[in-house]
Amino acid sequence: VSNRTPYRARHTQAGVALLLAAGLPLPAAGAPVHDVVLAGGRVMDPGTRLDAVRHVGIDGNRIAVVSEQALEGRTVIDASGLVVAPGFVDIHAHGQNNLANAYQARDGVTTALELEIGVAPVALWYRSRAGQALINYGAAVSHTAARTAAMLGVEKFRDVLDPGGEGLITAETAQRANHAELSPEQLEVMLAELARGLDEGALGVGLGIQYVPGARRSEIYRVFQLAARRGVPAFAHSRITAMNEPDCISALQELIADAAATGAAAHMMHINSSGIRQIPTMMEMMAGARERGIDISTDAYPYAAANTGIGSAIFDDGWQQRVGIGYGDIEWVATGERLTEESFERLRREQPWGSVIAHFMPEDMVDYAIAHPEVIIASDSGEFVDGRGHPRTAGSFSRVLGRYVRERRLLDLMEALRKMTFLPAERLAPFVPAMARKGRLQPGADADVTVFDPATVIDHATYAQPMQYSTGVMHVLVGGTFVVRDGAPVEGVFPGTAVLRASAGR
Ligand SMILES: [Zn+2]
Repeated sequence: VSNRTPYRARHTQAGVALLLAAGLPLPAAGAPVHDVVLAGGRVMDPGTRLDAVRHVGIDGNRIAVVSEQALEGRTVIDASGLVVAPGFVDIHAHGQNNLANAYQARDGVTTALELEIGVAPVALWYRSRAGQALINYGAAVSHTAARTAAMLGVEKFRDVLDPGGEGLITAETAQRANHAELSPEQLEVMLAELARGLDEGALGVGLGIQYVPGARRSEIYRVFQLAARRGVPAFAHSRITAMNEPDCISALQELIADAAATGAAAHMMHINSSGIRQIPTMMEMMAGARERGIDISTDAYPYAAANTGIGSAIFDDGWQQRVGIGYGDIEWVATGERLTEESFERLRREQPWGSVIAHFMPEDMVDYAIAHPEVIIASDSGEFVDGRGHPRTAGSFSRVLGRYVRERRLLDLMEALRKMTFLPAERLAPFVPAMARKGRLQPGADADVTVFDPATVIDHATYAQPMQYSTGVMHVLVGGTFVVRDGAPVEGVFPGTAVLRASAGR
């Protein structure tokens, strides 16, 4: 990675005219002409802590130069008054289609990875996105899917699976499989399925432990063991969301213990919802584990309500007591109505795939997680169905920049950007070398760039109206191609590329 690449020495009068029109200084005679120049913005690069007015030259899909001198380009964007930052890296994104991507791009996201639940079959999923994605994409291999496949028969599972969708696996089949223990033979089949997914380039193993109560602790330990052997992280929605014993802390202890016993890296998804009131103690425990050589991390999204399926094991008997909430805290996503005992029981029976938003997190704990220097900002985005969904899909990153940074000053702008770009990229880079070129605004880095107005950037998505674009994100480039320009979407471009592990041999 170097900034010494020879520039294509071509000149355009158009570029010069644009610079003059924008009142910007002209580049030196004989200067190279870049494909795209972001001129005179406040470049903020958390990896180097650079925070200064600079000119950014982009050639092809890479950043060629970050310069104090004016640059010449075939396309020149006047970025004065705007922040020019690395594109946001969302490591917790279930909304893996172009409808969700359109909202994510307007929120500044250039890479969205499904690492929690994961996908299966992995190669088929990557093929289904190739050449059609608005932003960069990637995924872990799904533990839930692998164990379902082991129970149903792998070939049958592969026949019926609709990549990225629910396929022909019925809610009943899934619920039964999720509550069943694997036989020793099925355990071996499951591990082989996970290994196959890793061979196909998956970024790690994704575990929704709480969603599969049939997965005993010994099974999860075997999965960590495989992850360690293959040198990939285990990303986990932990076992328990509860304030009373066994509580959230015991769920973190399982991850720390398995990471310690196997040597696998562990990532606990969404500590805001998986930690509730115990987040400070859990962050302390993670720091202590790291000091003793255990590789563990976490993320959070800036909302106090979670989103999941009404038929999921989270709502198995006793959920009110475990989480400390009641029927009225559960919102039926399709209509926005709060549920009662009657409507909850009926919908769980009749529409188990149906989506609910659960309001249960203390706001001060969400604030704590978002501001904590070790917590990666992520969205836990989902898909929009019939215009409905959780606002986090559209608004997570602008919400942090607008509300947590600008309005409430819970953290400063550079720190927030670090937690959205450099921190997640650095977390994955030891396992996924391609991530070492992301989350950076530096020569040689991928030209994934988000340009926003720090004075106005804000989310608009709400629980009542989740499909509202964020505003103030002015330009977004993915691999050097504009997907958002002048605050508006660019139609008909699909520059998103696959994020894969190099060892997959692609
Ligand atoms: Zn989760």
